[in-house]
Amino acid sequence: MLGALARVPRHAFVPPHLLPHAYEDRPLPIGHDQTISQPYIVALSTEALALQPTHRVLEVGTGSGYQTAILAELAGEVYTVERLPELSLAAQRRLGALGYTNIRFRVGDGTVGWPEEAPFDAILVTAGAPRVPDRLLSQLAPYGRLVIPVGGRFNQELVLVHRDGGQWVERRLCPCTFVPLIGEEGWT
Ligand code: SAH
Repeated sequence: MLGALARVPRHAFVPPHLLPHAYEDRPLPIGHDQTISQPYIVALSTEALALQPTHRVLEVGTGSGYQTAILAELAGEVYTVERLPELSLAAQRRLGALGYTNIRFRVGDGTVGWPEEAPFDAILVTAGAPRVPDRLLSQLAPYGRLVIPVGGRFNQELVLVHRDGGQWVERRLCPCTFVPLIGEEGWT
């Protein structure tokens, strides 16, 4: 996991005027009121997913594509959904230029998941949700893991959800602040 963080050049994902700050451990604005996540939170979320090279992963909130690249380093196939077309297109160009071939992109509401490609071994949501979307849980494989920030519009708790026998188990990872998840099973 640390290898993946070291291999992905964060400076390729930030706007030119913020280049001097690319390697600071904090989120940075990427335009359209959105942010590239803080590296510590990217590391914590990724670690919690326990990715294997055969895994198929769904990411909700492509944003700059930085977290997408980390997932693509560790998993087999990454499916990433972004609601803002401009951000998705910029991420597609960036990740293509970096040589990734195991990422599929979709523009739309990721709170409903990507049913055609389900089930997923791991799902990562990178925007803050009011609650865990049922439709994402239903697209998790039997031993799948979901990481999602859940809480209020401005502050959330990063939560890991996985199935233990027949039960869903939730574990809180840390307090965090993500931009809002907007959609059918998110905020309006
Ligand atoms: N992982 C990204 C974080 C981007 S911020 C990075 O490191 O750059 C979260 C992103 O989620 C924003 O780009 C926002 O537009 C997007 N988003 C919010 N609600 C969404 C939804 N319902 N479906 C897909 N993307 C969504």
